[in-house]
Formats: sequence, C-alpha cells, structure tokens
Amino acid sequence: MFKKKLGQNFLTDKNIAKREVNYAEIKKDDVVLEIGPGNGILTTLLAEKAKKVIAIEIDNKLVDKLSKVLPDNVDLIHADALKVDFEKLTRFNKIVSNLPFQISSPITFKILKYDFTCALLIYQKEFADRMIAIPDSKQYSRLSVGVYYKANCEVIETVSKTCFKPQPKVDSCIVKLIPRETPPFFINDETFFFELTKQLFNQRRKKIKNTLSKIYKIKSEDVPFLDNRVEDLSPEQIGKLCNILFDLR
Ligand code: SAM
Repeated sequence: MFKKKLGQNFLTDKNIAKREVNYAEIKKDDVVLEIGPGNGILTTLLAEKAKKVIAIEIDNKLVDKLSKVLPDNVDLIHADALKVDFEKLTRFNKIVSNLPFQISSPITFKILKYDFTCALLIYQKEFADRMIAIPDSKQYSRLSVGVYYKANCEVIETVSKTCFKPQPKVDSCIVKLIPRETPPFFINDETFFFELTKQLFNQRRKKIKNTLSKIYKIKSEDVPFLDNRVEDLSPEQIGKLCNILFDLR
C-alpha cells in the first residue's frame, strides 16, 4: 500500500496541486523536474503546460502505473533522485514537487547546486520554518544559512495535513525558491563554507572557539566571533569567519 519509508503521503486536493503549478508560472518552453511524482497529481497538470516534464520516481510499482497513463512529454525515470546526476538529464529550468520528507535536506542542498530559475516545493512545515529561520531562533540551522546564501526563499501557503493520504502528523507548506543571481556576501570557497557551517551547527550550543580548537590552531586576535555560538551569528558573519579560517589553513 503506502510506503512510509519513502515518504508516501499523496496529495489528494486537486486545488492545492493546481495552485502549486500556477505559482510556478509554467510556460510552453519550460522543462520541469518533478521529484517523486507518486500517482501523478502534479505531473499531469505540469505536462499540460510545459514543453517537457522529467519525473524521477523510486517506487517501481508507481513507475509501472504511471508509465501507462502519463502523456508523451513526460520522461519518467525510475531512480533514486539523490543518485541521479542532474547535469546528465535534459536541461530543466523549473522544479515542482511534493517532496518525500525523508530526503528533504539532501535533496534541497542538491537542488541548490543546480542552475534553475524557480522551484515550487511542498515541505513539511517544520522543515519550511527552518529554511527561512533567522539567527537566535530555535529553527536557525545550517539549512537556513545555505538556503539564504543560494536563494530567495518564500513560504507561499500552509497546506493542511488533511490534504494528504495517508494523513501525516503535521501540516506542510508550499515554498518558492528563486536562486540568487549573485550571493548576498562573498565566500572564497563554497565547499569549505558549507562544510564548516555543518560542523559548527553540529555543536550549535558550544562556543565557536571550543568547536574550532579541535580542528584548527587558532589565535583569538586572528579570528572573530570565537566567544559566540554559531546560532547567534548571521549568515554574513558565518561567511566572514569561514573566509578567515580558509585563509589560515
Ligand atoms: N507527487 C505526489 C503527490 O503529490 O501526491 C507524491 C508525493 S509523495 C510526498 C513523495 C513521492 O516521492 C512518492 O511517490 C515516493 O515514492 C517518492 N520518492 C521517495 N523517495 C524518493 C527518492 N529518493 N527518489 C525519487 N522518488 C522518491
């Protein structure tokens, strides 16, 4: 039936599906990526508007079912979206999905590396709150910092848990991501920035000097914010810290 470990909470409210697709303002020449088409509620609406839809579904039973009903302009791929090299697919410019909640974090970081114009994504509300969280709040995390650095992120609407089958424990949100043309602050090495941000948030309650002393030989006159906790720093301040540490390596 429903595979819980694959995050199979299917959207049953067609009006929500229509609104999500409308927010993406799909044009006739758009190529849209959908992760986890499920029963195809979004896929068929997307296919009516877009030039092509690339739909990646991990569940072979759903793939069998969908392959019989989806129109010709849908490329249905049976795969784990986390393992697919997006650069090897037909070039897509938009992403519209009701994401499986168990891969929300890795798939978001993966999407943010790709060059797209607009993404409309359904996430569990708690995750959406973390995406837009500000410093000194409980939800502020490496996700908030990474999303802020890469994109403009807007929560467009809350979707009640009653709009899904089986019904999840929590509500969801439709989130719009528009990648930034230029980052909001300068970073001299993005890989280093993302990795260090992760390490710092892994010990979010510790003073930064205690987290860093295990990795670097640091002198307090060279490095700022050592007596702060990462959860108190703005993304810009975390960026500044990372740039200094990158140069000191
Ligand atoms: N789009 C449908 C809808 O809105 O009703 C289904 C959404 S359901 C929340 C998530 C879908 O993602 C399921 O069909 C599930 O099988 C699929 N899925 C889960 N993990 C996946 C993965 N790693 N790669 C691709 N699809 C995945």
